[in-house]
Amino acid sequence: NASSHSASKLKPDSTTLDVDSIRHDFPILQRQVHGKPLIWLDSAATTQKPQSVIDRVAHFYQHENSNIHRGTHTLATESAAAYEGARAKVAAFMGAQSPQEIVFVRGTTEGINLLAAIFTEHLLRPNDEIVLTEAEHHANIVPWQFAARRSGAVIRVAPVDDNGDLILEEYERLLGPRTRIVSITHVSNALGTVMPIREMTVLAKRHGATVVIDGAQGVPHRRVDVQAIGCDFYVFSGHKLFAPTGIGAVYGRQALWDDMPPWQGGGGMIRHVTFRESTFTEPPRRFEAGTPSVSSAVGLGAAIDYLDGIGMEAIERHETELLAYALQGIRSVDGLRVIGMPRDRGGVISFVMDGIPDLQVAKMLDAQGIAVRTGHHCAQPILARFGLESSVRPSFAFYNTRAEADTLIETLRRISRQR
Ligand code: PLP
Repeated sequence: NASSHSASKLKPDSTTLDVDSIRHDFPILQRQVHGKPLIWLDSAATTQKPQSVIDRVAHFYQHENSNIHRGTHTLATESAAAYEGARAKVAAFMGAQSPQEIVFVRGTTEGINLLAAIFTEHLLRPNDEIVLTEAEHHANIVPWQFAARRSGAVIRVAPVDDNGDLILEEYERLLGPRTRIVSITHVSNALGTVMPIREMTVLAKRHGATVVIDGAQGVPHRRVDVQAIGCDFYVFSGHKLFAPTGIGAVYGRQALWDDMPPWQGGGGMIRHVTFRESTFTEPPRRFEAGTPSVSSAVGLGAAIDYLDGIGMEAIERHETELLAYALQGIRSVDGLRVIGMPRDRGGVISFVMDGIPDLQVAKMLDAQGIAVRTGHHCAQPILARFGLESSVRPSFAFYNTRAEADTLIETLRRISRQR
């Protein structure tokens, strides 16, 4: 029962997360690395999974495993019900109007490739414009480059300022009668900037553009309501939302899906096939050729149940407070430069240390059990904007604590003294 579950994850004041209790739900957080308790600060790369998700996937294989839809036997019915149940949970979680608006994919990368591939033929014409921001992940750049090359469309890029915030007036200036697609990240995985996606959507809609949101780093940190945002599509990855790898979702407005041709062909997406021609089924299955990742979808449903039991609002409050605390400490370390100081930050802090290569910083942190990512974070253009090829990136989730932030800050101070 969701309310008693929720009560057990909040402190008696009923607004603060009971992080100790939450951490017990994540078995991997009990392990040690190099003899130290693991401090997982790499959730922007992938999140850890609660026991309820692990159990749900095991239950699927122990009791329900079957391919979906095509069978008429009991297990096929159960497996299909579990899969479609997960779709309904994703729809409710994102504020979609119906489960039919949710297409399952492997992850954000596949979701954006799906949209870009379909729009290449279905929407884009020579000299049409695709507007991105400077802070995009490669997954929200490269598929649009393919689409532009094949359709003759042109990519325009809205810049960010020295804080890593979008320059809204510049973005607005880029929009015009040729703007066909605006595809923007909700939260930058390299800087943590939360983009003003609602305002950006309103502006794009004045020009009739189709708006796609890359929500890979949005959904784990904010309550997402696709109708309040007003976007046409919103894409995310399950593995960044405490669910298994190999599953993600694309929300799209029903009327748009209805109009779109399929992208991949195969089983599951057809109505009738002859060697002369084939006809296709309704969305969302029209866009899900082949056997989907059923167990991972079911695991995603369990992850959403878990998050609903806590509440995204309580999660956001905890993370905002924790990030502000961690940021203050990290900034105070000698010789350390934080990259980007956005007005609103989700999950991520990026920095470099004078005189010590990023990889060496990461190795020294790993020796203390602290896992962070280094490198270009698949977002080379935004790092180049700050004159960098790489950074060190601790990233936080709701299971992280102030004590963990303290250990990180302390260790960074020690590393800094060794320079
Ligand atoms: N977009 C953003 C903002 C991301 O952070 C990521 C992953 O790091 C992706 C897209 C790609 O996600 P995936 O690798 O799960 O497809």
